[in-house]
Amino acid sequence: MLVVMKAQATEEQVRAVCQKIEEMGYRGHPLPGAQRTAIGITGNQGEIEPGTLDEMPGVQELIRVSKPYKLVSRDVKSENTVIGFPDTDATFGGPGLAVIAGPCAIESREQTMAVAEHVCRAGAQFFRGGAYKPRTSPYSFQGLGEEGLRIMAEVRERFGMKIVTEAIDNESLELVEKYADVIQIGARNMQNFSLLKRVGRARKPVLLKRGMSATLEEFLMAAEYVMSEGNYQVILCERGVRTFADHTRNTLDLSLVPAVQRLSHLPIVVDPSHGTGKRDKVTPVSRAAVAVGADGLMVEVHHEPDRALSDGMQSLYPEQFDELMAHVRQIAPVVGRTVPGIGRHGRGAETPAVRQGVGSSISSVA
Ligand code: PEP
Ligand code: MN
Repeated sequence: MLVVMKAQATEEQVRAVCQKIEEMGYRGHPLPGAQRTAIGITGNQGEIEPGTLDEMPGVQELIRVSKPYKLVSRDVKSENTVIGFPDTDATFGGPGLAVIAGPCAIESREQTMAVAEHVCRAGAQFFRGGAYKPRTSPYSFQGLGEEGLRIMAEVRERFGMKIVTEAIDNESLELVEKYADVIQIGARNMQNFSLLKRVGRARKPVLLKRGMSATLEEFLMAAEYVMSEGNYQVILCERGVRTFADHTRNTLDLSLVPAVQRLSHLPIVVDPSHGTGKRDKVTPVSRAAVAVGADGLMVEVHHEPDRALSDGMQSLYPEQFDELMAHVRQIAPVVGRTVPGIGRHGRGAETPAVRQGVGSSISSVA
């Protein structure tokens, strides 16, 4: 059920309706829009008895939301959700594309600083890297833990980039929440419902990756779990699904982007690194992701990919990331987007790839 408030409804009236909803034993989620505020109601098992809600001051109408996901849906909020960050003009879901880049895993201080300096200079506004790694083998590198988070905090301090890093369980979430600007929930945890609920109580934006075999509805329901706990800052991330194809690690489903945008107001970014698993495919697919209307990209970059402790095969060499950014800068305006800078080196930084002319590099790759 959705309570649509009148355009001129006051904050006081919105609060009173929320309070009434709580008294009825449900939860009210005020979702301010450009025209009016809507209040989603969750926590009900069946039909809600509208009671006196529709007669309360400021209420325009009550609408039944028939879709299984409610707070995620455009029925509840028609305008795109834009997630901003203090002291920057970087956003998820605004006109500017969000570019997240960095290594798969934080391996050492030296490695992290080398990659961070490069991706920042090239124009990434967000720095990624796992301090906790969900690995298929228990014998593979599992991440540096809190030490890795401390190194990332230093990156933020030094370069001004915002930090995106994964929490793999409730325990790591406690720490990730302290250090990160965006909490990543990985593909393997997309249906870890207790973790989704816990991150729904966190006060930081959540980047939720699509599960390896998740349908669109399952993906949106996972986001609904986070929002139902009161965290409305959710960023979806398409990272490919398992198919019979063996020319790539996963099959990146770019058609998910317009499919999500039709149903949901949440921003959606694309991860071409896990989506293809192969370095040579990351830049072409990134171009396509921007062209299809994604709100951003998440790209793995390593200064020495051949020595990387995880996902070296899909990590770009730093110069390849320069080229990717140059291509993205060319394509973004075609679809009405910009690529805002951030950080000490980011804003207006000129990369070698930009200087040598993007047009020629696009045609040489195509
Ligand atoms: C990652 O981003 O490093 C990662 C582990 O991704 P995914 O959960 O999509 O496999
Ligand atoms: Mn990885």
